Amino acid sequence: MSPTRSVSIGPVTLGGKHFVVIAGPCSIESEQQFLETATTVKAAGATLLRGGIYKLRTDPNTFQGLGDDGLRIARMVRKTVGLPIVTEVTDARQIPLLVDAIDVFQVGSRNMYNYELLKELAHTGKPVLLKRAFSATIEEWLLAAEYLEKGGNPNVILCERGIRTFEPALRNTLDLAAVPYVRTLSQLPIIVDPSHGTGRRDLILPMSLAAAAAGADGLLIEVHPHPEQSLSDGYQSIDGPMFATLMTQLEKILAAVDRPLLKNV
Ligand code: PEP
Ligand code: MN
Repeated sequence: MSPTRSVSIGPVTLGGKHFVVIAGPCSIESEQQFLETATTVKAAGATLLRGGIYKLRTDPNTFQGLGDDGLRIARMVRKTVGLPIVTEVTDARQIPLLVDAIDVFQVGSRNMYNYELLKELAHTGKPVLLKRAFSATIEEWLLAAEYLEKGGNPNVILCERGIRTFEPALRNTLDLAAVPYVRTLSQLPIIVDPSHGTGRRDLILPMSLAAAAAGADGLLIEVHPHPEQSLSDGYQSIDGPMFATLMTQLEKILAAVDRPLLKNV
C-alpha cells in the first residue's frame, strides 16, 4: 500500500486526512444557476466547486458550454462564494484563459489520451484532476498521470468515472475496485465521480457511500438547482436537498472508516 501524496488547492488539501467533496453543475448555464448551486453546495459542506465552461459533448447538436461567458461567471462566483473551482480544459489554447480564473484543471475522459495537452498542463504546475478514459485500463490511466508528473507537475488527482462495459443498463460501469487497487500502485490521491459513473440520479447516494467506504479521497458530484431543466446531464444531476442528504449520510460512513469530512474552509 503506497502512502498518498496530498495536493493543495488553496485552503483545501486533497489526499490528506480529510475526505473532500467537489460539487456543482455539469455546465455553467447562467450567473443565477451557478451562483445558486455554489451557495447551496457550500452550505451543505462542499469545499470545491465544479462547473463546465468548455464542454466536450458526444452529440454536436447539444449544448456545448457557455465558453468565454462561462469563464466570466466562474470568476464572479469564485470571488463571491469563495470556493476554489474545478473546470475542464478541452484544448491547450484555453490554458492561458483559465490559468488565473480557476484552481484545478479537469482533464475529461475523452482527453485522457491527449498527451500533448497533458504535457502543456504539466508546465503550469497547477493541480490537474485526471479522469480515467472510459476505455482505459488502470495501467493506461496511471501512464497518463505520469505524463503530468514527468513534465514537472506532481499535483495530480485521479478520478474514477466509470468505464464502458458490455452492460447497457447504465451509462458506465463504475469501477470501485480501482480505488483500493490504485492505492497499491500509486501515491496519487484518487476520487470517484458517481454521476458519470452511473448516469442515474437515484444511484448517486449509494455509490457515493460505497466510494467513501472503499477508501476514496473524495467525490465529484453533479448538482443542479432544477435537474430536469439542466442543459447537460440533468438525468444524473441531484438537487440541493438530495445533496444535503448525501452529505449527512456520507459523514456516517466516513466516521466508520475514520476519515473526517472536510467541511468549512
Ligand atoms: C464532466 O465532468 O462533466 C464530464 C464531461 O466528464 P467525463 O469527462 O468523465 O465524461
Ligand atoms: Mn457532466
